[in-house]
Amino acid sequence: MIPIVEQDVVRVVIDWLKESSNIIILTGPELSLESGIPDFADSKFNPNIREFRENPAVREAYWQKIGKLYPVLSQAEPNSAHKAVAELEIICNVDYIFTGSTDGLQQKSGSSSVVELLGSILWVTCPNCGKDYSLEQINTQLQDGKKIPACEECNNDLLKPPISFPGQPLPHWELREAWMKLNNCDLFFIIGAYLDDSPLSSLQTIAAESGSKIAIVNERQSEADNYADAVIYGKPTMVISHIVSQIKKDIKAS
Ligand SMILES: [Zn+2]
Repeated sequence: MIPIVEQDVVRVVIDWLKESSNIIILTGPELSLESGIPDFADSKFNPNIREFRENPAVREAYWQKIGKLYPVLSQAEPNSAHKAVAELEIICNVDYIFTGSTDGLQQKSGSSSVVELLGSILWVTCPNCGKDYSLEQINTQLQDGKKIPACEECNNDLLKPPISFPGQPLPHWELREAWMKLNNCDLFFIIGAYLDDSPLSSLQTIAAESGSKIAIVNERQSEADNYADAVIYGKPTMVISHIVSQIKKDIKAS
C-alpha cells in the first residue's frame, strides 16, 4: 500500500500521465537492484579504463566478478516495476524509455522504445577486430578456466562491454538523442534513478529548462528531488504497479 500522505501526490502524477502527450521515462538501476541485479555501469563497480588496459590483474579481477554474477544475470526476469513501465508505454503517450540500466531487463519486459544511455552488459566487443560476443560466450570461456577472455579471431584480451568505465566518455549518440527528445516532452518521469552524482544529471536540467513537468519515483530522498514537480517515495516495484493499475481502472470507468 502507498502511505496515505503520498496518495495526493500519486493522484497528481497519475493525472499528469493520463493528460500528457509526450512523455519521456527514465528508468535507473534501482529497478533491477530490487531483483538482486547490481548496477554494472556504477563507477565503483568498474575499474579505471587505463588500469583495465594496462594491468592484466585488473582485467582478471573484473572478469572473475562478472563470471560470479553471470548465473544471477542470465536467469533474471523483469520484475513488476519493469513490467509496469512496459504497460505505461501502452496505456499512456510515452515517446521513449531511456534507461541507465545495462542489464536488458526493461527490453525483456516487452518495452519497445528503450534507449540504453550507459551501454549494455549483455555483449562484449573486441577493440582490435571489432568482433562482438554475447556475454554467454564470454562466460563459457571463463567457465573453461580462462582467467581473461580473449577474442577468438585475433586473440586480443582487451575485450570489454560497451559500458563507459571511469576515464572513458559516455555514449555520445544516445545522450544527444535524450537531450533532443527532452526538449519536446511535457512530462519527464524518472523511476528508480538517483541523478545527483550520476552522469545522467544533465537530463533533469534539460527537462526543467524546456518547461516539462518532472516527476520522480525513488525509495530515498536526493538533491535532485528539489528540482522536481512531484516526488513519490517508495519502492518502484510497488509504486509503478499501483499507478498502472489505477490508470487502467480510470480508463475502464471512463
Ligand atoms: Zn578480435
